[in-house]
Amino acid sequence: SAKNRGKNRIHFYELSMEQSLRNRETLKQELTRALQNGHLHLFYQPQVDIRTGVVLGAEALLRWFHPDGIRLPADFLGTIENDDLSIDLGRWVLGEALRQHLEWKKEGQFFRIGVNVSPRHFGSGMLEQDLKHLVELRGIEDLSGLELEITENTLVSDLGEVQKTVRACRDLGVHIAFDDFGTGYTSLTMVRTLCPDTLKVDQSFLRGITENPGNRSILESILKIGQGFQAAVIMEGVENRRELRLVREIGYHSIQGYLVSPPLLPVQFSSFLQTWQAGRLWENLENPS
Ligand code: C2E
Ligand code: MG
Ligand code: MG
Ligand code: MG
Repeated sequence: SAKNRGKNRIHFYELSMEQSLRNRETLKQELTRALQNGHLHLFYQPQVDIRTGVVLGAEALLRWFHPDGIRLPADFLGTIENDDLSIDLGRWVLGEALRQHLEWKKEGQFFRIGVNVSPRHFGSGMLEQDLKHLVELRGIEDLSGLELEITENTLVSDLGEVQKTVRACRDLGVHIAFDDFGTGYTSLTMVRTLCPDTLKVDQSFLRGITENPGNRSILESILKIGQGFQAAVIMEGVENRRELRLVREIGYHSIQGYLVSPPLLPVQFSSFLQTWQAGRLWENLENPS
C-alpha cells in the first residue's frame, strides 16, 4: 500500500542518514591518521606575470596520498568544514607552506606563497595566534611572503571577527586574497570594507566566455575594480592559448592555470623554475591549442 511505501521510504532515509554520519566519522578518523602519518602533501601551482615571465607566487594546494590514489580537496574538505579537524588541518598547511617558502628563499627563490584558509579556521579567533607561533618558530621578521586566500564563505560569517583577523594578519605583513572572486553575493561590499591585496578571479567566467559574451564584461569590470582599489588581479584557470589571448586582450597580466603549469610537488616546482620561459606561452599563439 501507499502507506507502507511511505514507511519504507522513511526507514530508508533514516538508514542513509546513519550511513552518512558513519561515513563522516570514518573519513574524519582516516584524515586524522593521514595527518599524523604524513600522508598529506602540498602541491604548488605557479602564478606568473605574462608580460615579464616573473613568477609572482605559488598557491599551495592540498593532496591526500591515499592507498586508493591521490585524493583532491573536493573529496574530503567539505565533509569536515564544520569540524575542528579543519583547524588542525589548516595549521598543518600553514606550517608546511611556510617551511617550504623559507626553503625556497634559502635557495634564492623569492615569491609569495598563497595558502587557502577554511572559513572555520579564519573565523576561529585562533589564526592570529597560529601565525604568531609560526613567526616565533621560524625566527622570521614578518610574514610578508604569505598570502591567505579566503572565500565568500569566510566573509559571510561574523564580519567583526573577520575584520579583526584581517587586521591582525596585516600587522604581521600577511597579504589577503579574495578567492573565487565574483561568485559570491557580497563581494563588492567586502572589497570596499576589507581592501584585499589580491582578487583571484573565478575561472567560471573564463570558461563560459564564448557561450556568453556577458562574461567578458564581468572580467573587464573585475579588473577595473581591482585597479581602483590597488589590488592585484589574478586570472585563475587559464587552460589554453585561446583563453590566454582573451585575458591579455582584456588587460590581465597575472595568471594561474594549467597552460603555465598544473600544481606540482616541491621538487617539480624547483625544476619548473629552472626551465620556465614566458616566451613559450606566446610561440605560435595564433595557432589554436
Ligand atoms: P582554489 O583555491 O580556487 O584553487 C584552484 C583550483 O583550481 C585547484 O583545485 C587547482 O588545481 C585548480 N586549477 C588550477 N588551474 C586550473 C586550470 O587551468 N583548469 C582547471 N579546470 N582547474 C585548475 P584543487 O587543488 O582541486 O583545489 C580545489 C579547492 O580546494 C581550492 O580551490 C580551495 O578552495 C580548496 N583547497 C585546496 N587546498 C586547500 C587547503 O590547503 N586548505 C583549504 N582550506 N582549502 C584548500
Ligand atoms: Mg585558492
Ligand atoms: Mg579559486
Ligand atoms: Mg575554488
